Amino acid sequence: MAKTLYDSLGVAKNASQDEIKKAYRKLAREYHPDKNAGDKEAEERFKEVQTAYDVLSDAEKRKQYDRFGSQNGRPGAGGPNVDFGNFDFGGFDVSDLLGGIFGGRAGGAATRRQPVRGNDVEAVVHLSFEDSLRGAEAKVPVELTVACRECGGTGAQPGTAPVICPECNGRGVKSESQGLFALSQPCPRCRGNGTVIEKPCPNCRGTGRERRIKNYTLKIPAGVKDGTRIRLKGKGEIGEGGGPAGDLFVVTRVEPSKRFERRGADLVIEVPVTYTEAALGATVEVPTPYGERVSLKVPAGTQDGRQLRIRGHGAPKLDGSGKGDLIARLRVSVPKKLSKKEREALEELQKLSHDDPREALFS
Ligand SMILES: [Zn+2]
Ligand SMILES: [Zn+2]
Repeated sequence: MAKTLYDSLGVAKNASQDEIKKAYRKLAREYHPDKNAGDKEAEERFKEVQTAYDVLSDAEKRKQYDRFGSQNGRPGAGGPNVDFGNFDFGGFDVSDLLGGIFGGRAGGAATRRQPVRGNDVEAVVHLSFEDSLRGAEAKVPVELTVACRECGGTGAQPGTAPVICPECNGRGVKSESQGLFALSQPCPRCRGNGTVIEKPCPNCRGTGRERRIKNYTLKIPAGVKDGTRIRLKGKGEIGEGGGPAGDLFVVTRVEPSKRFERRGADLVIEVPVTYTEAALGATVEVPTPYGERVSLKVPAGTQDGRQLRIRGHGAPKLDGSGKGDLIARLRVSVPKKLSKKEREALEELQKLSHDDPREALFS
């Protein structure tokens, strides 16, 4: 079993925010690099604890993690080794919790808040088999976090604007000299943003973001399969601190066809032929998935299960390089009922037959 973020903090899956915070404080102290200089394992643990806390302390990220196994919505991307980008300490930072132990010496170099890329989002589109070959336009509602419409994403009440933080003059970092050490830590007033909002936007309460359902109209390209992932760059969730938006991944769910079976860009169809057609050879008609009929030459002596390729009548290739093939899998069909004449003819044939199909079994 892979270690979960809950394991990283040593808490239960239903742990309260308080329990998570407590566990984090304890572990962050224990593994802090200042206390474990040069200890690679402690360093790894410290990162792991930070990552876990970053996700689990944020209700939104935690919900997503619980659902998808990762905070960015990509299924299966979970586990403690995933790079979640930069850490948000959610209300307090490591330097202030370490203050008590290290006499005010902050851990690590504090930096201005880094831009964070927005989360990726996944949406599902259901298509008929025909539409998957023809291409289609689909309307997809996607629930995601976008820039607040009221304030345009600034977080400031409409008509006002965020101002340069007077505490750090917009640097996002505060430096102070304390005895031997020059102390640098994220500005507590603006939390590293460099700007502060005096009158928060009432719609987003100053976050600049809101949850919304966006209706995208998508052109689904001809030739998608069941499970094809289409990436729409920048159509995911809004980034933080000027970071780019995430991507939208649209996964196609294609209804299976009764006749055609997909094999890459090729389509396989079972074509029944009679014993005489298989033995004597014949030209038979085969339907294509595009509503046409094509002629297929069945060679004399064809065996049951033989596959014949009809070039260029398969599914469109997504790279635009034409279509795959239609593959006719021949099935020799045996009549269930015989007329008197047919029976007589077959009995005559059996008398004439010199072929023993079981010969190889005894050799
Ligand atoms: Zn500031
Ligand atoms: Zn707003």
